[in-house]
Amino acid sequence: MNTVLVTGGSGYIGSHTVLQLLEQNKNVIVFDNLSNSSLESLNRVSEITGKRAEFIEGDIRDTDALGDVFSKNDIDAVIHFAGLKAVGESVEKPMLYYENNVYGTLNLCNVMAQHGCKNIIFSSSATVYGDPAALPLHEGLPTGQPTNPYGQSKLMVELILKDICNADNDWNVVLLRYFNPVGAHPSGRIGEDPNGIPNNLMPFITQVATGKLKQLSVFGDDYNTPDGTGVRDYIHVEDLANGHLKALDKIASKAGLFTCNLGTGQGYSVLDMVKTFEAASGQKIPYVIAPRRSGDVASCYADPALAAKELGWKAEKGLKEMCEDSWRWQSNNPNGY
Ligand code: NAD
Ligand code: UDP
Repeated sequence: MNTVLVTGGSGYIGSHTVLQLLEQNKNVIVFDNLSNSSLESLNRVSEITGKRAEFIEGDIRDTDALGDVFSKNDIDAVIHFAGLKAVGESVEKPMLYYENNVYGTLNLCNVMAQHGCKNIIFSSSATVYGDPAALPLHEGLPTGQPTNPYGQSKLMVELILKDICNADNDWNVVLLRYFNPVGAHPSGRIGEDPNGIPNNLMPFITQVATGKLKQLSVFGDDYNTPDGTGVRDYIHVEDLANGHLKALDKIASKAGLFTCNLGTGQGYSVLDMVKTFEAASGQKIPYVIAPRRSGDVASCYADPALAAKELGWKAEKGLKEMCEDSWRWQSNNPNGY
């Protein structure tokens, strides 16, 4: 698995993964349409590693552009991050989400098959479990009903990739179900740079801390959780990125279809996050209790045992480091890249 195509590689999780791939001396090609990222992330990855990924600006829905990449390079595997991820926007623009995330992936797989590359790692999400049937969430549980088109697109792609694998034994597919990625590279040079007002908790908190946003709204304090606020499994983006390197090893062992959670196994509430962030950053985070956000579940955290057993992977970084690194990135780059 020496030459790796990383779709969406200039984005948040992609850039952290590209950094680790370069550190392992992989030959990395990034394919991204820059719809939700900046090339500056990869410039900074080069600055940190002293190595460079090849960058191609292109869209995964563009068959010719993808074909060109595969014709010119002997690609061993694809790590497929490219996709749109804003839950609210997906409700407003479902066709855009299905076309980008579902059709885009189908197009990518077609081009891969035409060029004899049948190894892919896909960015799925814990959202495919829907309302948790049991906690912690383990891979043996049935997938549920995601509450928005973004989540549906992830579930649809999982089903498509499973069928592709069932029909052709040459395919090796790793479906990685991410829990809640936060944090940044400890240098503070690369990190999460959302467009507009953040939907996710951590970037919202860090922007309150810089003064860009006035206060945090805590969506509901009447859930059946220890303090009434929603509980999630926050995972440091560097640990998450490392899971992809382990998944490449799994692919090299010709494992066929493999589905795996990437989480820590530890749930924290919204108020735990606020308190830990305040301690890590020295900044006060004013908040108000607001109504529940529609589509949210009370608690969601992983059983990470399968990743430990089959990938030899375990999250190493705790909540304090996640908060410190998120804050270093945000305070050094208050306006992002
Ligand atoms: P991101 O938006 O930072 O990165 C996605 C990248 O894909 C961006 O650089 C964007 O420009 C690119 N892209 C989008 N559509 C494209 C297209 N049609 N062609 C080429 N490039 C395209 O998001 P991220 O947080 O790094 O997420 C990476 C992947 O992980 C996504 O598929 C996302 O759905 C999934 N995921 C993210 C989270 C999370 O909370 N961040 C959780 C679960 C799953
Ligand atoms: N949340 C919140 N205020 C915000 C954003 C998020 O209270 O401004 C809560 C949300 O209700 C959930 C948790 O923080 O309980 C994580 O939300 P996020 O959107 O980051 O991730 P999700 O698990 O929904 O994908």
